[in-house]
Amino acid sequence: MLDTDFFRRWLTAIAGAVEREAARLTELDSAIGDADHGSNLQRGFRAVTDVLEKEPPATPAASLTLAGRQLISTVGGASGPLYGTLLRRTGKALGDESEVSREQLARALGAGVAAVAQLGGAKAGDKTMLDALEPAVAALGTSFAAAAEAAEQGALATVPLQARKGRASYLGERSIGHQDPGATSSALFIAALAETADGTTGGTANGTAGA
Ligand code: ADP
Ligand code: MG
Repeated sequence: MLDTDFFRRWLTAIAGAVEREAARLTELDSAIGDADHGSNLQRGFRAVTDVLEKEPPATPAASLTLAGRQLISTVGGASGPLYGTLLRRTGKALGDESEVSREQLARALGAGVAAVAQLGGAKAGDKTMLDALEPAVAALGTSFAAAAEAAEQGALATVPLQARKGRASYLGERSIGHQDPGATSSALFIAALAETADGTTGGTANGTAGA
């Protein structure tokens, strides 16, 4: 089962991944956007890390909704409200339980991803974060490792796509041939989830951890 501390460690792992990969995310965004995706997420997840320390949440849901609020209030780019909505809606769907199963998280994350699609008006294939998040949610029903693999493949699969939403869509066909920054950061989030689950159970990388 995934308790409040699991969610704190997951969010902290995302913050660490964002710090390590910020330059790459910004570089991807410089090709088809405005070169701020890495710095946007850095600002947002530094704020998340701070607030988790200062006001430790009492439940898994509260951890995600608190983090989502921070992203919405600190990130100026499109990704702030979108990721903020993802975390808040996922948190809301978890209810007030003190621990949740992987299956419950998969369902809640599905609600979060649906809220992102509704807010941004995007669907799979539009070359956005949804191209990593939707396959990840589907695979999370199987295992954490399968979700991480699906998100990574989804991010890679954005390369040949033409962007149909967000800033990159202004480039039209010139957006083809570049990996989407948001799909790339989404894959980092899900990789951080799988790593956190691995650390929790002492499981191996073969996907049975926490099953
Ligand atoms: P901005 O585009 O405002 O500079 P960021 O650079 O932080 O914001 O984030 C860009 C990412 O946000 C894109 O790579 C894409 O994955 C995601 N994105 C943008 N618009 C949408 C949308 N309408 N729906 C889903 N994701 C979106
Ligand atoms: Mg940008």
